[in-house]
Amino acid sequence: MIRIRLILIVVSTFSASVVFAAGGVVNSPTGTAPDRYVYFPGTEALKKDEIRLIACGTGLPAARRDQAATCWLAELGNGDKFLFDVGTGSMTNVAALMIPYDFLDKVFLTHLHTDHWGDLTTLWAGGWTAGRTKPLRVWGPAGATPDMGTAYAVDHFLKTFNWDATTRNFVLSAEPGKITVKEFDYKAVNAVVYSENGATIRSLPAIHAGDGPVSFILEYAGLKVVIGGDTFPNKWYIKHAANADLAIHEVFLTPPDLVRLYGQSPGQALGVGTQIHTSPQAFGKVMSTIKPRHAVGYHFFNEQATHDDVLEGVKQLYSGPLSLAVDNMVWNISKEKIVERMIISPDQAWAVNGPNKPPAPPAPGTIPDPISDFIKSGRWQPAEEAQAPMVEKFKKDNNLK
Ligand SMILES: [Zn+2]
Ligand SMILES: [Zn+2]
Repeated sequence: MIRIRLILIVVSTFSASVVFAAGGVVNSPTGTAPDRYVYFPGTEALKKDEIRLIACGTGLPAARRDQAATCWLAELGNGDKFLFDVGTGSMTNVAALMIPYDFLDKVFLTHLHTDHWGDLTTLWAGGWTAGRTKPLRVWGPAGATPDMGTAYAVDHFLKTFNWDATTRNFVLSAEPGKITVKEFDYKAVNAVVYSENGATIRSLPAIHAGDGPVSFILEYAGLKVVIGGDTFPNKWYIKHAANADLAIHEVFLTPPDLVRLYGQSPGQALGVGTQIHTSPQAFGKVMSTIKPRHAVGYHFFNEQATHDDVLEGVKQLYSGPLSLAVDNMVWNISKEKIVERMIISPDQAWAVNGPNKPPAPPAPGTIPDPISDFIKSGRWQPAEEAQAPMVEKFKKDNNLK
């Protein structure tokens, strides 16, 4: 089934200037229909000075089919692609873009709640089996103590998935299964954590649940995109996100909706909705203060039952261009304009090869076989015999010994 979410664009956005309506003029019964406000992944080259930003996850820790947990993909005109967070469930949306996994090797984590890195499993192992030829690179904040930092988390992630890696290493090159971590000080303000190819990424401290969380600022071609992580509104974001072209900031469900729909007690709802996260009114105040070209709110289950409540709170304090994000929204950002559309992508996406050949698997005998003779002795011969003619034909057709 192909997902079409045109209606949501209209209700999610109240700045007419950023929505380019469907339609255009169809001049011929055999011609094409221009100006649809949808994006079909893989069909548009980026201009050199353009950024394409895709919402691959905009929801909550209990990921649901309609909304995965936090994940943003930034694609730059210089060819660089960065994943900002890779929350639970988000990789199915990333996969539907059918971008070669080799191009998806750089991940920036705002913090270590699972709704912001739970699908690193899928990117790591899935990307490894589906054509990534090199290690993943992960940037993330240090913690107040070493065991609360990104390096510790990734080190133990690899230990947790030791069986997965050991069994794959027997048949695949181990290289794409490695993860390189660059940890940085979560207290550093507007500090550069990445600078290559004309793209710069800086980090800001965030106020959320414990020490460690950050937000990121991506600068490229004179454009500034701020990727706000989970946070109560903070002075660093206010100062350094000012005049952003696109400013993403979390906006949480209203306390009444947290009680009504999320089963929280009123006390819990007030704590989560106004202290650990950002209420709609507080989000509105942030955006009317920093005045971005375009504001994006996310991190709530966005549906008819909640959308208007969040929007109403935001509008009390902010009336500028706004998207309340859902999964598969996309923004093309350039000096001239910011265009928001919805993505139409296949549910049954396959991995697409990139230009690089995967490194060779290990030579036979160089790595211990993870399957013992005892387990091998249980192979059922009739199955071998049943498939033998098919196997022989395939070998012959492909010159295999
Ligand atoms: Zn969090
Ligand atoms: Zn979160």
